[in-house]
Amino acid sequence: MSVPQVLSDIRAAEQQAGREAGSVRLVAVTKGHALDEIRERVLAHGDFPLAENRGQELRDKVAAWPQAEWHFIGPLQRNKVKYLRGVTLVHSIEEVWQAQALADAAAAWGQAPDVLLQRHNGEGQKHGVLPEDLPAVLREVQATGLRVRGLMTMAPYDDPARAAQVFADTARQARELGLPDLSMGMSGDYPLAIAAGATLVRVGRRLFS
Ligand SMILES: *Cc1c(COP(=O)(O)O)cnc(C)c1O
Repeated sequence: MSVPQVLSDIRAAEQQAGREAGSVRLVAVTKGHALDEIRERVLAHGDFPLAENRGQELRDKVAAWPQAEWHFIGPLQRNKVKYLRGVTLVHSIEEVWQAQALADAAAAWGQAPDVLLQRHNGEGQKHGVLPEDLPAVLREVQATGLRVRGLMTMAPYDDPARAAQVFADTARQARELGLPDLSMGMSGDYPLAIAAGATLVRVGRRLFS
């Protein structure tokens, strides 16, 4: 697969869902890939945001290619917050202390990333905020001064019916909370996520295989 093929899938899914062309952004997940490969496979086709899930790898790539729009999508440990300098969007906030640590670091950097709250989907997943806790966590994260743009979620693999339900529930809760962005959909399920209202799809393997 390649970026043009994934973009045409995205366009088709937008159209099928009756959504405006361009309402879904492709976030290219570049973990494990070297910059030369990222330039050739991704950036040759446009200025897509690039997402990483490990602090050190992100820091090294941001330093080597600061002109890109970098996102962080991994679990955020306290001692890794320092590596997020230069990032514009963190998809994976699941604890208030993470937001506070990020806000504190950002004050020193003079530039703060926007954030999404990762929603737990009830499938024995390790990560994410339980749906019933989201309203309170949202208020506390907003109180740190960071701008919360939306929700992120990961659906269970290999169960399209369940994934569609998770995406629909996440979209409904984002609407209830007044949050405009929805980061959902990966290589295996991005058309389903777009049908449910995703505004950001995080695609990795399908761009590079
Ligand atoms: C790796 C990763 C993706 C991309 O997954 P693919 O299956 O490679 O498309 C998306 N989101 C998160 C949080 C990831 O860690």
